[in-house]
Amino acid sequence: MSGEVWSLWVDCRLCGSRDLRVLFTATRSGRQVVRCRGCGLVFYDPQPSPAQAAALYSSDYFAREYPAETEEGQTRLAHRRLTRIEMEAGVGSLLDAGCGAGRFLAVARTRGWKAAGLDVSPSAVQLAATTSGAPVYEGDLGRPLPPGQAPVDVVTMWDTLEHLANPVAALAETTRWLRPGGLLVIQTQNANSVTAAWMGRRWEQFVEFHLYHFSPWALRLALERAGLAAVRIEDADQFGDAGRASPSPAHGFRAVLGRLRDRAWVLAGHDAFNVMIATARRPARGTA
Ligand SMILES: [Zn+2]
Repeated sequence: MSGEVWSLWVDCRLCGSRDLRVLFTATRSGRQVVRCRGCGLVFYDPQPSPAQAAALYSSDYFAREYPAETEEGQTRLAHRRLTRIEMEAGVGSLLDAGCGAGRFLAVARTRGWKAAGLDVSPSAVQLAATTSGAPVYEGDLGRPLPPGQAPVDVVTMWDTLEHLANPVAALAETTRWLRPGGLLVIQTQNANSVTAAWMGRRWEQFVEFHLYHFSPWALRLALERAGLAAVRIEDADQFGDAGRASPSPAHGFRAVLGRLRDRAWVLAGHDAFNVMIATARRPARGTA
């Protein structure tokens, strides 16, 4: 945690409410966490200024978050995700928004995708272009489409939404990059998970650069308000994993107690999954 003072106080970006409940100060980041009483969106208040937010992504961020030793796992994960996406959309063109080091782009290209990347960080843009050989654009989803870049079949956002200064506006911008009928795929952490509920201020997702946390309900609302349709939200661990054997449950007293505790939280209305994937489509022409 940097300890630098943030002073950008915000209303709820999703429903506009000022009726915010202060939950706690997060242990890892030292930032104040609030939940909107209108829509349940969870976020830091105050937020960083644009300059402070940009400073969170210095070049050492990418070395830290994408160490070379995780490359094999990242590659396997990208194949699993693409297997599932191809079941829904075939192989075509895609934009990976918040492409980071570009591993997903590189794998997509090996599978025949016409892939392009987008990232706000100049060091990520350089790294991703080198890693993948794909065109990688600097900026956010609000920037104009680069010359020669047509709207794509699929826009992906892997662990990106929670980093954005205005994630709700960004979702609306995705429709400019998607062709009519195109597929949007978003992975983000679930603020309504059992883990979030019992960890509270110590939830591992409350790191400094995760500015917003959605529940499945809030994410669905944000996507529908952005003009997207056919919204579906599921456990990220199951995405692209049809048929993969789940590990057998651990035995012993503590494991059983843990499962009972989780079951109680699920009964209380929380979701068993800590990370979720939402898919949605830009309505085809004539049906919007
Ligand atoms: Zn709200």
